[in-house]
Amino acid sequence: MAIDNLVDTEQLESVGSFKIVAVGIMRESAFRKRQKPQTLTQALPGLRRIVKEFWPEIRQQKLLLGISIVGLIVEVIAQLLRPWPLKFIFDYVILADATIPATKFPMLSDSNPMVLLLIFSVGIVGVSGLRAVAAYVNLVTMSLAASRIVAEIRGRLYAHLQRLSLSFYHRVKSGDLITRITSDIDSLRSVTVMAIFPLIVEMLTLVSMVGLMFWLNWELALIGLAVFPLFLLSTVKITKRIHQVSRKQRRREGAMAATAAEAISAIKVVQALSLERMLQRMFATPNRKSLEDSARTQQLSATLQRTIEILVAIATALVMWRGVQLVMAGKVTPGDLLVFTNYLKSAFKPTRQLAKHIAKISKATASGERILDLLDVVPAIRDRQDAIKAPLFNGDVEFESVCFGYSRDKTILKDLSFRVVPGHRVALVGPSGGGKSTLVSLLLRLYDPLSGRILIDGCDLRQYQIESLRRQISIVLQDSVLFGVSIRDNIAYGSLGASDREIKAAARLANAHDFIMALPQGYDTVMSERGSTLSGGQRQRIAIARAAVRQAPIVILDEPTVGLDNKSEQAVTEALDRLTANCTTFLITHDLTTSKNAEQIFYIEHGEIIEQGTHAELMQLGKRYSTLYQLQGAVTGK
Ligand code: ADP
Repeated sequence: MAIDNLVDTEQLESVGSFKIVAVGIMRESAFRKRQKPQTLTQALPGLRRIVKEFWPEIRQQKLLLGISIVGLIVEVIAQLLRPWPLKFIFDYVILADATIPATKFPMLSDSNPMVLLLIFSVGIVGVSGLRAVAAYVNLVTMSLAASRIVAEIRGRLYAHLQRLSLSFYHRVKSGDLITRITSDIDSLRSVTVMAIFPLIVEMLTLVSMVGLMFWLNWELALIGLAVFPLFLLSTVKITKRIHQVSRKQRRREGAMAATAAEAISAIKVVQALSLERMLQRMFATPNRKSLEDSARTQQLSATLQRTIEILVAIATALVMWRGVQLVMAGKVTPGDLLVFTNYLKSAFKPTRQLAKHIAKISKATASGERILDLLDVVPAIRDRQDAIKAPLFNGDVEFESVCFGYSRDKTILKDLSFRVVPGHRVALVGPSGGGKSTLVSLLLRLYDPLSGRILIDGCDLRQYQIESLRRQISIVLQDSVLFGVSIRDNIAYGSLGASDREIKAAARLANAHDFIMALPQGYDTVMSERGSTLSGGQRQRIAIARAAVRQAPIVILDEPTVGLDNKSEQAVTEALDRLTANCTTFLITHDLTTSKNAEQIFYIEHGEIIEQGTHAELMQLGKRYSTLYQLQGAVTGK
């Protein structure tokens, strides 16, 4: 059942499911599917673009980000300091009496060992405490800043989406847009917090550790880092394998979910045809393979961990081997060895996360770029620079040799010219696909003509600011569009800021006041999705009230009574007559009894007005219109 509805034109931009569509020529290139960058170098240009484009949002959070960066630096320093209290206890307390080789901290040699012990014992706790506090501050401020930035970006994206034209929504899958506004943005936030910052901490720590090792003893540092290439090689190789297998597994699981969804949605047919066993068999193979893949990834990551452990052990052994000789030769202290072994262990750990972080960052870069691509789409219908606010219209509408096509190679409207006197009703009739809806969508400036002009009160539409133009046009459509807010708000959407009195007056005009008052919550009744708690006729009348509150001089009615029973139709028609009194009205209809009273009737076929006149004139002409009228009369008995 098709249910007509009245929608004010500003909402056209935000409702994707109806016939009249707005134009927005997106840059097609901007919407190609993005290849996910695989390495950090590939991701870098994207990251740069993201930071540049979102700089205004990032800058707003500079205080939080500043605190976070200080926290980050303190965290790195604390991380580096961790083994040092222990080293000092070793060198200057335990071995206080032993001959310490040339020390880098001569003043400690002269201090009281017990005082030093106390200081460095407290130091152990202090360093850990400092690190904990710094990491906490860093994480909390970073998360907060990221959430705020992301909320700003989401707001910007949402506002942008509202401005994009309906033709854009026709081209792009709504699922894709929703992914961009939800999970893409979320991934941007979580990756900043979970990958980029930890990566910076780890890299800074790593570089400083290597520096400190060389400072302590370059020979030991070289020995310790000798296994590093091996480590990198095995990490990269095994991580790559893990990625391959898990990607395969994800694909397989996606396919399995699709198979399951298909079987569940068609369960009636499946059972009727006794296909259960066959489908189970079809499901079993990918299910088993996915299990194997999952086992394989676990095996691979276990291999990686063990390999790393062994490499760390080898590095430690090598450092010990040479280190003890150096200690004996008095070149390094036992405490230095302690620092070395500790650093070796911690240096390998973050590198293990490197691949994981890079993968996450690459993914987030792709997400960020998808958001930017969307923000880059330019609405094709925009205000001209010199556009003026439309004055209150009289409703004099003129089409001057208007040609239009959704694509250049197919003309839909062919050289249309006509003029409508203010306050007149024009009925657009004719076969489906003739171009009636297209014609009115041009009047709303959802599209611009390819050639020719459309004038209201003698001025080209393109000279007016779009919002001021659309505010003076109301439209009734077939699809019901009531929002999940109260009836009062649903009506007020027609003219934001309408007073309670105006809302009620509009509802009365639309024959809606009485049934609204009969509802337990009256005007405060919240509409369920698509207004399904009300009958089609009632929804229609609320929508008519919405148009009435707008007090627009031009009204477009697109099959407003289709699908209503006789009684509802009568109430709606009555409301529409009141709504359109003194307005220039365009009525698209298939029911020729409703077009009879129009001052002008256009019979439109293949984008051309092939008959034009009053009902009497067209009947007298005795061509298409009169044939159709008689045919309908014979069928409906009206
Ligand atoms: P009517 O309202 O008379 O049924 P329309 O104006 O809806 O006719 O359609 C006129 C022609 O334009 C049809 O051939 C239709 O397929 C085509 N058309 C309508 N909307 C679009 C669109 N968004 N993109 C491409 N072609 C469209």
